[in-house]
Parts: sequence; structure tokens; C-alpha cells
Amino acid sequence: MNMSNTEQTLSIIKPDAVERNLDNEIKEMFKNKGFSIVKEKKIQIEKSEAEKFYKVHETKPFYNDLCAYLSSGPIVVMTLEKENAVLGNRELMGATNPNDAEEGTIRKRYGISIDKNSVHGSDSVENAKIEIDFFFKD
Ligand code: UDP
Ligand code: MG
Repeated sequence: MNMSNTEQTLSIIKPDAVERNLDNEIKEMFKNKGFSIVKEKKIQIEKSEAEKFYKVHETKPFYNDLCAYLSSGPIVVMTLEKENAVLGNRELMGATNPNDAEEGTIRKRYGISIDKNSVHGSDSVENAKIEIDFFFKD
């Protein structure tokens, strides 16, 4: 019986972390947890692209600031792969608010605040496919 469940998920190292040159340390955290970085690029996006990416949040009070922030500086976008990658990445990232994040998580270690929380990760396999396509479809 084949019980393997290799998944891909989208990870973004957000502007607050890239600005502090934390991208290599964060990538090491992924690799140490067994993730392969199968695609990677450092880019800066337009606010209009951030608005498309975060469309699911368009009714939220923080939507405008969130989109302004994600487009405010360089980001590192990656496709990560491993067994159960979507959930595994959410666990490694930690809670949205770094104050609530567990020890050993990326957001606990590097997050500054709920908005400057250093990383994005897809929240489901379905959304991971959409988000990977968003950044890596040629
Ligand atoms: N966010 C924010 N204020 C809030 C909630 C969320 O600025 O009150 C930002 C935060 O950067 C978060 C992003 O919006 O990472 C997307 O929110 P979501 O609830 O999807 O959290 P995530 O999936 O990133 O943990
Ligand atoms: Mg989310």
C-alpha cells in the first residue's frame, strides 16, 4: 500500500524578513524540516498583484494595508515540497500573530507583529495549487 502523500505548497518570505536579510535563515528552517525548495524567485510585486493574490481577504479591514505591505519591497516566493507540505508549512510558520506562535516556529523567531509576520503559507492543497500557479505559471 502506498501511503505517501507528497504535496506542494506556496511560501512567501515577506518584505519585513527579506529587508532584514533573513531569507537564507528561513530557507534553512524549511530544509531542516525536510522541505525541498523546488522553485524560488525574488521579486517585487505591484499593489494590484497583491490585491489579486489576497482577494480572499478583500472585505477585511486590514486588506488595503496588507496589499500595500506585500508590495512594499522584495519578497522571496517558493514552491515547497514534502509529505503533507501544506499542514507542515503551517505548523513551521506558527500562528498568524507572532505573539501567539509556538517556540521554534518561523513567526515566533522572526515575526515583528501580526502584519509583519515574516512568512505566508497556503492554507489548503486547493489554494496551494492556485497560489503556485499565480506566481509560477509561465
Ligand atoms: N493580517 C493582518 N491583520 C489581521 C489579520 C491578518 O495584518 O488582523 C495579515 C497577516 O499578515 C496575515 C495576512 O493578513 O499573514 C493573511 O491573513 P490570514 O488570516 O490568512 O493569516 P495567515 O494565513 O497568513 O496566517
Ligand atoms: Mg491565510
